[in-house]
Amino acid sequence: MIDIHSHILAGIDDGAKDFGDTLNMLRHAANEGITKIIATPHHNNGKYVNNASDIKNKVIELNERIKDQGLSIEILPGQETRIYGDLLEDYEKGEILTLNHSKYLFIELPSNHVPRYTKQLLFDIQLAGLLPIIVHPERNSEIIEHPSILYKLIEKGAATQVTASSVTGHFGKKIKKFSLQLIEAGQAHFIASDAHNLSGRTFRLREAYDEIGKEFGSELVYMFQENAELVVEGNTIYRQPPLEIKKKKFLGIF
Ligand code: FE
Repeated sequence: MIDIHSHILAGIDDGAKDFGDTLNMLRHAANEGITKIIATPHHNNGKYVNNASDIKNKVIELNERIKDQGLSIEILPGQETRIYGDLLEDYEKGEILTLNHSKYLFIELPSNHVPRYTKQLLFDIQLAGLLPIIVHPERNSEIIEHPSILYKLIEKGAATQVTASSVTGHFGKKIKKFSLQLIEAGQAHFIASDAHNLSGRTFRLREAYDEIGKEFGSELVYMFQENAELVVEGNTIYRQPPLEIKKKKFLGIF
């Protein structure tokens, strides 16, 4: 399995604190069956700044240390960038990193709203030849209240990554239900851990895929797993036309 979202690099955001943490997380991931992990440190989220060159160097260094430890897991470069107006300008400057140097770019929205300029910026990102992946939309409170906002962004070409722990219910019942609705509606393109540690925010990738297999069948699990591989290889992902999520009428009331 490939995990395309993680905070595995030590001491640069709210993920692994030191190399010991990183190693423990990697051992756990390897036991879960994960063979490749994209390191996606927070960038420009108001707390952490991690420019492309720093991340690339840290990934090279970590892969060397992994070899010394005899672990068979590979770390690839990425970045989790909070949406901001000058993002494309900074991409041109070389500060923004796509997932493993592909055309796929992680975009994080604020947790409680969707900025008005999102639609235009995601469009401009695509004009620049990149493909935006909105990370964990299932945890954004404005999207939970108004799922049509996300639907419209996907319709216009954006992809989404749902977090494994959302699917397994570790962020609560409401987020689990919404995650499954997004998956059912073809509005999810990737499942990833967004692992920060081994306690509250661990991997649970295998568990999430098991849950999706139970709910929707193994074909969808293969699609998600294959999409993660296609991103790492820089190829085009599978996607279906998204369906709108309709609020269900309450049964029994006519
Ligand atoms: Fe993250």
